[in-house]
Amino acid sequence: VKDGPLLLVKGLRVSYGPVEAVRNIDLQVNKGQIVTLLGANGAGKSSTLNALVGLAAKKGGTVTFNNQDITALSTEQIVRQGMTLTPEGRRIFPNLTVDENLLLGGAMHAGRGSPAEVRAEMLERFPILKERLHQKAGSLSGGEQQMLAIARSLMSSPDLLLLDEPSLGLAPQIVDQIFEMIERLREQGLTILLVEQNVSLSLEIADAGYVLANGAVVLSGTAAQLRHSDEIQGAYLGA
Ligand code: ATP
Repeated sequence: VKDGPLLLVKGLRVSYGPVEAVRNIDLQVNKGQIVTLLGANGAGKSSTLNALVGLAAKKGGTVTFNNQDITALSTEQIVRQGMTLTPEGRRIFPNLTVDENLLLGGAMHAGRGSPAEVRAEMLERFPILKERLHQKAGSLSGGEQQMLAIARSLMSSPDLLLLDEPSLGLAPQIVDQIFEMIERLREQGLTILLVEQNVSLSLEIADAGYVLANGAVVLSGTAAQLRHSDEIQGAYLGA
């Protein structure tokens, strides 16, 4: 599965009025990889993910996905091409059931298998959701809600999943479970671009990573290179 680039980003720029959140970023994500985007609060990580799926306006740059230029496509078209986002803060619908949340995720699916087939697959992959299927999503624990948010994204049968801060607000033990699940998703063939505050865990499961500061890439490399770099050791891993 580990071929050429699935996602190639050149010169991406995002601004909010006078605020330049993303300045000229280049990124590459190869098939079958987990690539992590690291950096402090406000570095531009979420803006990058949002721009990739068309939820933030691109001020410049090109996005190539599966060898197609998707720069100008709408969010719906991008999801149908096979790229989807699990946003920061999960954004599940608390008053709908687990099942209803899942079905909403299938509304724009990439056309591989019927929504019913994909739903059955999700319930097999996430047994906890099967147990809670008819419960209100808001009654799930934080970790379960994160699982639901990811499962809902996978209902569109993506090739590339953009995951924004899946560990946010979760207890360490639950974070470990989420990271194990992310690794299993890669084993099953999914490619993942992971935004995380948890630098050490991210670099444990990632193949490669980029460090952003003030909207620009300041460091990049394989996960092993980053783990051993003085910058990462000093700034994030407390050496
Ligand atoms: P965080 O982990 O806090 O989400 P981040 O690295 O994901 O940080 P972004 O959320 O992309 O960073 O923010 C980058 C910059 O853009 C910050 O200066 C932020 O204040 C600003 N910003 C983000 N969203 C908006 C918005 N909707 N309107 C105005 N400014 C924004």
